[in-house]
Amino acid sequence: MNRKHSFDVIVIGAGPAGSTAAYLLASKGFKVLILDKSTFPRDKLCGGLLTWKTVKLLESIFQTSIDFLKSKHIITCSSNKYRVVSNTGISIKGQLGHPFHFVQRNAYDFFWLKMACQAGAEFRPGEKVISLDCLNLGGRISTDKGSSFFGRFIFGADGAVSNVRGLLASKNFIQTEWKSNLATALEVFVPTRQTPELSDYPQIYFGHIRWGYAWCFPGEHFRVIGICGLNAKAGRFLRKGYEAFLDSIRISGKPIPAPASHALPYGNYLTTPGYGNVLLLGDACGLADPLLGEGIYYAQKSAQLAAETVVQSYHDPPAVLKGYARHLNRVIISELKYLRIGRQIIFSLPGAWPYRILMSLLKIMPKKCEEIIQGQRSLKWFRPV
Ligand SMILES: Cc1cc2nc3c(=O)[nH]c(=O)nc-3n(C[C@H](O)[C@H](O)[C@H](O)COP(=O)(O)OP(=O)(O)OC[C@H]3O[C@@H](n4cnc5c(N)ncnc54)[C@H](O)[C@@H]3O)c2cc1C
Repeated sequence: MNRKHSFDVIVIGAGPAGSTAAYLLASKGFKVLILDKSTFPRDKLCGGLLTWKTVKLLESIFQTSIDFLKSKHIITCSSNKYRVVSNTGISIKGQLGHPFHFVQRNAYDFFWLKMACQAGAEFRPGEKVISLDCLNLGGRISTDKGSSFFGRFIFGADGAVSNVRGLLASKNFIQTEWKSNLATALEVFVPTRQTPELSDYPQIYFGHIRWGYAWCFPGEHFRVIGICGLNAKAGRFLRKGYEAFLDSIRISGKPIPAPASHALPYGNYLTTPGYGNVLLLGDACGLADPLLGEGIYYAQKSAQLAAETVVQSYHDPPAVLKGYARHLNRVIISELKYLRIGRQIIFSLPGAWPYRILMSLLKIMPKKCEEIIQGQRSLKWFRPV
C-alpha cells in the first residue's frame, strides 16, 4: 500500500470519541485518518446534556472553557435546576451545585471534528467501513466506496451499532454477548413555542417504562423529549411507555413529529476493549451510564485514554491494548460496574419499589446523588474524586 493510504492511526467514526482521539494524536504529530459514513455536520439522536465531568474534561483536552463554548454557540443553554418525577406521585425539585449544559449534537460533533482537522488529521466523509483485516503490524480497512487504507492502529469509534465491533465479534476475536444490555431510545425535538407549559429546566421521569426512564430537556429553540428502556426487559413496552409519558406531560394531543429511535449502550461495556491493534472507544465499546444513559463523557474520556496509550507505547503494539484495557477498567469501567449492579438490584424489585428507592435516595442525599452524576464523587465508598 502506498504511503498516501498508510496511517499511524485510522479512526472510524467522527463522533465525540473519534474526533477527540484524532485531535490528541494529530496534535502529537501522528498521521491520522478519520473515516465516517456521514457527511458533517450530521444529526445524532441525543439529549445533549453535559455534566460537570464532561466540561472539565473538555477544558483539559481542548483548553477550552464554558464561556468560549457558549460564545461559539456550542453550549446553547444551561440550567441550575432539575426535577425528578415518579409516577408514584412524588416529584423532587432541586438546585444543582454546578449547572447542566445542553448542546445540539450536529454542532457539537462538527466542532470537535474541525479541531481534529486543524490539528492535522485527515477526514474523509461518506466512507462507510465494511471490512477490516487484522494484520500482525496493524489493520487494513475497506470502505463501501472501494477505498482501502492501512493503519498501524485502528480505533473503532463507530457508535452503538459498531461495525468494527461486529467484524471483530464475527471472527470470535472479542466477546459476542452484547445485546442483553442494549437499550433503545425514542426521542423527539419539539419547538419550545409549541410547549410553553413545560419547564425550562431538565426533568427526568420514572415509571413510564421499567428498566429505563423518560426525559424532557430544555434547548434554545427545541425541547428534547424522549424515553429509553433496556431491550431485554422493556423493549416491547417502549412505544406504549412513550405514549403514556406524552399523556402525563399533557402534550399527546399536540401535532408533534414522530419520534426517531436509536440504540443506546446500557451496561454492555467490554472489559477487553479490542483485539490486536484494534481498540474500541465510546459507544462502540459500550461505555455509557447503565442507569441514566450518559455517554458523551465516556466517549471522550475513553478517546483520551486510548490516544495517550498509543502515544506512550506506539513502538510496542502489544502493550497498547493491554495499557488501554488497564486504564479503561480503572478509570471508567470501575464506575459503570457499580452503576450496573445498582440498576440490576433496584430495577429487579417489583411494582413501584424501584422508583420509591430512587426517589428516597434523591430526597435523603440530594448533594451526594448530584456529585455522583456530575463525577465529583466515586460510587466506590462514595469517596470524593
Ligand atoms: C436518544 C439518546 C439520548 C442521549 N442523550 C445523551 C445525553 O443527554 N448526554 C450524554 O452524555 N449522552 C447521551 N446519549 C449517549 C450519547 O449520544 C453517546 O454515548 C455518544 O454519542 C457516543 O459517542 P461516540 O463518538 O462513541 O459515537 P457516535 O456519536 O454514535 O458517533 C459514531 C460515528 O460513527 C459513524 N459510523 C458508524 N458506523 C460507521 C461505519 N461503518 N463506517 C464509518 N463511520 C461509521 C457515525 O456516522 C457516527 O458519526 C444519548 C443517546 C441516545 C440514543
